Amino acid sequence: MIRKQAGWQENDEREDCYMKNNDHNNTIEIRPHHLLCLFCALEQPAAVPAPEAIAQLAEAIRRDPGLPLALTCRSDDSFAFQSPRDSADPAPDAGFRQKQDMEVLFRMDLSPGTVLPARIAVARARKACTSVSGICGYGEATSPAWQGCPLAGTGLYERARETGMDTIFPPRDNPGMERDKASSLEAMRAAAAVRVRPHILLCAVAQYGRGIRPPFKDDNLPELFQLILERPETRIELVGGADAMMCAPCGARCTARGTCMGPGFVNSGGLFNELKDLRILQILGLTFGDVLPGCDLYRRIFERMPTTVNTCALERSVPELSVWWDPCPCGGYEKGRTELMREMGLNSR
Ligand code: SF4
Ligand code: SF4
Repeated sequence: MIRKQAGWQENDEREDCYMKNNDHNNTIEIRPHHLLCLFCALEQPAAVPAPEAIAQLAEAIRRDPGLPLALTCRSDDSFAFQSPRDSADPAPDAGFRQKQDMEVLFRMDLSPGTVLPARIAVARARKACTSVSGICGYGEATSPAWQGCPLAGTGLYERARETGMDTIFPPRDNPGMERDKASSLEAMRAAAAVRVRPHILLCAVAQYGRGIRPPFKDDNLPELFQLILERPETRIELVGGADAMMCAPCGARCTARGTCMGPGFVNSGGLFNELKDLRILQILGLTFGDVLPGCDLYRRIFERMPTTVNTCALERSVPELSVWWDPCPCGGYEKGRTELMREMGLNSR
């Protein structure tokens, strides 16, 4: 059942202004083309259609980049199940607005009703829609019903999409990341078992191979290795998700939700990271919740995983707009493995 979230308002009675909460993880229903209006509103907030709805949306996703957005639009056929209220809209430009949303979804290769974290939805819309021509306006209008948005054809969207992502989703601030670094390191050193998601155990090896040593600004993995090299019996608990003990200072972490938005910031929002975790657990014969001494865990990793091929690196094996695509920038695993096996005396065991 669709109902309003407390504190949120529908801005007027027009269908193109709805913004509702369906109470499932605070999912917000929006019209797909509003993802593009966010860019136009950076320069001309009062000139976009439904300016209050766009301003509310911009504020909500700035505070919570992981906010789930349901991209709903009128459909009169198989996807009518997700059509918003007033879907039998009698307005003269109803066809224009329905087409506008379907053009956006078509370019994004998504079906009406798809739910995505806000950061992913906006990034994907930006990537898929290089221009609003043919979406929001058509040059010569064939009739008043197809007049389109007055901002289409001004170049506003096309300019704003070049640099606007960092304004819509400001990067984490350094003082906050430094505070999180200090508190998470303290928690790690005091823990009976250090909580780590599986795939970043391999990231730690790759970082070591690339010569990264503490102190490291972006995560606590070099410090974890320092701890394991000093105290090989350090207990490691395998957990799902971007647990703060390792990930708190990371710029890719959504602080509102404690989730990973993915290092590539493109499509996957950390989704592929979850699959990596599970692939690695399967190879190691372990499961979430298992607790092992660090030296035993790494002995198992080094024995069973001479490389990360087919576990981590995705390259372009999926289409560019796939929600699974997020290229891992990592390199150095094999080198780090060789160096650490020597360092930990694992060759001779
Ligand atoms: S041109 Fe399109 S994206 Fe820009 S404000 Fe108008 S409707 Fe929104
Ligand atoms: S990219 Fe994701 S998994 Fe990796 S350290 Fe950052 S938050 Fe953690």
